[in-house]
Amino acid sequence: MFSIHKKKKCVLILLDGLGDRSYTALGNRTPLQAAHTPVLDRLTQNGASGLFHPTRMGQALPSEMAHFALFGYSMKEFPGRGALEALGAGLPIRTEDVAVLARFAKLFTDADGCLRLSDEKVTEEDERLNPLSASVGDYEYRGIRIRFYRTKGPYGILILRGNVSPRITDTDPILLNHRLSAVKPWHKEPPESPAADTAAALKSYLVWAYERLGKHPLNRERIEKGLEPINGIVTQRAGQLRSVPFFRERYGFSGISIASGIIYRGICSYLGLDFHKVKDTDNCGEDIAARLEKAVDFLGRYDFIHVHSERPDQAAHTKDPEAKIRVIEELDAGIGRAIEPLLESPDVVIAVTADHSTPSKGPLVHSGEPVPLIFCGPGIRRDRVEQFNEVDTAGGALGCVRGPEFMDLVLNYMDRAKLQGLMDTPYDQRYWPGDYEPFRIGK
Ligand SMILES: [Zn+2]
Repeated sequence: MFSIHKKKKCVLILLDGLGDRSYTALGNRTPLQAAHTPVLDRLTQNGASGLFHPTRMGQALPSEMAHFALFGYSMKEFPGRGALEALGAGLPIRTEDVAVLARFAKLFTDADGCLRLSDEKVTEEDERLNPLSASVGDYEYRGIRIRFYRTKGPYGILILRGNVSPRITDTDPILLNHRLSAVKPWHKEPPESPAADTAAALKSYLVWAYERLGKHPLNRERIEKGLEPINGIVTQRAGQLRSVPFFRERYGFSGISIASGIIYRGICSYLGLDFHKVKDTDNCGEDIAARLEKAVDFLGRYDFIHVHSERPDQAAHTKDPEAKIRVIEELDAGIGRAIEPLLESPDVVIAVTADHSTPSKGPLVHSGEPVPLIFCGPGIRRDRVEQFNEVDTAGGALGCVRGPEFMDLVLNYMDRAKLQGLMDTPYDQRYWPGDYEPFRIGK
């Protein structure tokens, strides 16, 4: 007979975009190496360290793909950021719809007749953007209906309905003062395919929106005042929902994410995790402390708790390594204020890592270096690494953990790893014991 053990739980502290590069101004250290992080260092000393990359070393990933892979899902199961954000924003998306990320932009036509992003971002208030959204909210082209939903600031989502396909290219060049790319079906999509029709419908909508926005009274007023018009919409990362096994089905336990971004609500909704929405304040230390306190409350109801902070990524995007150091130190202090109940619990496994690296200098949005990873908790090997950063943890006992191995380690440390080869259910599930059918005498 097995003795009844109390079930172990896992709290994952995810510091978004934490990984970085080394900078001469920091003594050839990364912001994380340069930051004073006594709490994260203590966790490192109490556990096993390594590096983590969600896919392949060198691949630069956005948060949604990195989280998707971290949660042990393959890129074949990935529905595209547009679809995940639509779910996160609670938009009326159906499985056959295509959702595309869309944002307002200031555009102009260059001497060759090509559309180009201006070198000015859209930072206008909601009340200025609302009338513009309303004027380009609904469009139809050859049986494809396109609706624009603004979600936050200049950002929104287009939902395309009809015989549509997500296999179309982006128009958003991301870099200011660059030409928009043409919207086209992907390579090898035939001319009469849904992808070709979707690209044609989206192009028609974007041209219509450009013309219509350019003539909008609000933009005429802006031009009279010498301001650049908010006259276009640019798009990227089309997606379509598909059906994937829920998190509980894959791992045999329940999970919740405590995060502020709607993309995490979207991922949770898609993967069958619960979601607890929090707000970011000016004090990211207090924010992470409050999220960890919430995680302690959730331990009675959930087995896996994802505690997220967006702030290291946001700080890195300001391209100021010093700003990232300040955020890391605030987070470290905040974790220190709330970590004790988790550290003292004999049943809690704590993991700390990031989803990707965000370089706080240079042209890249995100970069492909792995990020530090630690696990600490009951029975977890203690290596000799003393400091939590990209370089020291590389010498730790975990080595470099990739993609689905992260959740395998979580299952292992939670004592739910399956002895490979056992088949207690018709599915070769990743956890053990499986939710098997009992053996009955007779039928
Ligand atoms: Zn980022």
